[in-house]
Amino acid sequence: MTNTWVNQAIEKIEADFQRSAETHLIKLEIPSLDGIDIYLKDESTHPTGSLKHRLARSLFLYALCNGWIREGTTIIESSSGSTAVSEAYFARLLGLPFIAVMPAKTAKKKAQQIEFYGGKCHFVDHSSQIYAESEKLASELNGHYMDQFTFAERATDWRGNNNIANAIFEQMQKERHPIPKWIVMSPGTGGTSATIGRYIRYQGLRTQLCVVDPEHSVFYDYYHSHDKNLTCKEASKIEGIGRPRVEPSFIAGVVDDMQKVPDAASIATMNWLEQLIGRKTGPSTGTNLYGVLKIASQMHKDGEKGAIVTLICDPGERYLDTYYNPQWVDDNIGSLEQYHKQLEQFNQTGHLA
Ligand SMILES: *Cc1c(COP(=O)(O)O)cnc(C)c1O
Repeated sequence: MTNTWVNQAIEKIEADFQRSAETHLIKLEIPSLDGIDIYLKDESTHPTGSLKHRLARSLFLYALCNGWIREGTTIIESSSGSTAVSEAYFARLLGLPFIAVMPAKTAKKKAQQIEFYGGKCHFVDHSSQIYAESEKLASELNGHYMDQFTFAERATDWRGNNNIANAIFEQMQKERHPIPKWIVMSPGTGGTSATIGRYIRYQGLRTQLCVVDPEHSVFYDYYHSHDKNLTCKEASKIEGIGRPRVEPSFIAGVVDDMQKVPDAASIATMNWLEQLIGRKTGPSTGTNLYGVLKIASQMHKDGEKGAIVTLICDPGERYLDTYYNPQWVDDNIGSLEQYHKQLEQFNQTGHLA
């Protein structure tokens, strides 16, 4: 066997995993929602600060086992930032060069973090250019293009093996509604939704999966039209989620329902959550939670009881100069007033009117 380097690389990732802890499942206290419990799986506490830590680990293991990565292979990825931060961490763990191809307006903090882990950032003007540019770099450098937007749905063991769905259902075991009515997730690659949806079906659980898409993204329309060639001109304004093309890693068949969430609602809900838990989260967490509150409001109206679970995808500290800067929000998202009012009313009534 000549692949001792590959074996050692896999062992290093497995040892890193062994040293890691499961992320917390946080229960929200919302007095106006009688009998409806809302939970957030806090993926911001991974060593690299987002749910993409799980994906990066899976993608590296998948590529190593496939023989796509060897000693010295340059790793290239197309990313809006979070995946690249996590992959830079694993590339450094294995001593591999890493290049992230990302849109120029990605949060500066993320670029700094990629560089902190020894990675390089390669910027393009528009988010639709990242794919071709990544392929070009990979062939020029004889490197490996990880391609999260193709492989995210298949690199993770969806039947279980400590995946995020497995962890959620285990952590819910002692709750009064241990099997959630709904799990809500926003799609970037769609990989997390695919893992959760397949797991639910495979385990024969009653839980339904709702996927929440931001304004500038094709997933919602694709879900209803099945047209794989859909594109949208404007890039998503909610970092980490929403795509300008139908990504191969988005699996519509595992999704029970989708909602379109206005960007202003996402940011207002992100602010609302900060009031509730005293912590800043990223904007996609706001998208997730707005979707949850919509469902909770409907359940409340119908007199239903049960649990709803969603994710804190990443921490807000990355976005202090953007989503947490009122001037930036005004210029880029618009007024949040309508949704701040709506959420205040929700606090009083449990209805998201
Ligand atoms: C990637 C990402 C998501 C979406 O997760 P996927 O598994 O890629 O669909 C949501 N929020 C943030 C901050 C992300 O980086």
